[in-house]
Amino acid sequence: MILGQEPVFLESVTFFKTFGIKLMSKEEKNSAGTLEVEPEIIEEIGDNHLATSIETPLRSDAFDLSEEEKIEKIKIHFAEIMHVLGLDLTDQSLQGTPQRVAKMYVKEIFSGLNPKNKPKASKFDNKFDYNDMVVVKNIDVTSFCEHHFLPFLGKAHVAYVSSGNVIGLSKINRIVEYFSSRPQVQERLTLQIAEELKKTMQTEDVAVFIESKHLCVSTRGIKDKQSSTVTVEYSGVFNEETTKQKFIDYIKADTEM
Ligand SMILES: [Zn+2]
Repeated sequence: MILGQEPVFLESVTFFKTFGIKLMSKEEKNSAGTLEVEPEIIEEIGDNHLATSIETPLRSDAFDLSEEEKIEKIKIHFAEIMHVLGLDLTDQSLQGTPQRVAKMYVKEIFSGLNPKNKPKASKFDNKFDYNDMVVVKNIDVTSFCEHHFLPFLGKAHVAYVSSGNVIGLSKINRIVEYFSSRPQVQERLTLQIAEELKKTMQTEDVAVFIESKHLCVSTRGIKDKQSSTVTVEYSGVFNEETTKQKFIDYIKADTEM
């Protein structure tokens, strides 16, 4: 699939629907800081989990500050949020929270924003001449909804058909982890993993299937604890019904030993 053309999702989510957001140029965004969005549209985008682009929306000055500078700034702002909520920051239990949250944001859960943390692409020749699909299933997904900053947790199943290269299997886990470690939208995460795999493997023949539970659905709003969200991206040979079915059969197969 070429970016921007009809992503296939099991959910009836219209991916590029922008709901009247005026998309600003980079310069406008940098000077304004934030998008001007009507309050009712803010709720609509959040509740429907709409994304506005495949690229994570980052400013051009996103990495001008060092990690330490970022932690220092976030710490101050998070302390202010807690203060506004009425919490007593002199209480011993709360004292370290702003620092902990800031460090966690920068060094852990949003570390995938920074391109320097991107896993290196190491490929090997396909010496065995194995030309069937390779499926890595049940990869843990821990990501964060960018509309509510709450986690979504699930599994990714990723497949490719070699075009002459093979990839270290743990590399696929690392690609999933890297793109998950951002404020995300599940549809975008699915596409970003697929695109990265295509680039790394120099093939169009990739499939990515993610099923996850969103805490912003289970702990607030509709408070639905049962439902999960499935997003899929099929590219190249995976658009063929038999190949797609074979991939799904592999995912469904009970191979736990
Ligand atoms: Zn959300």
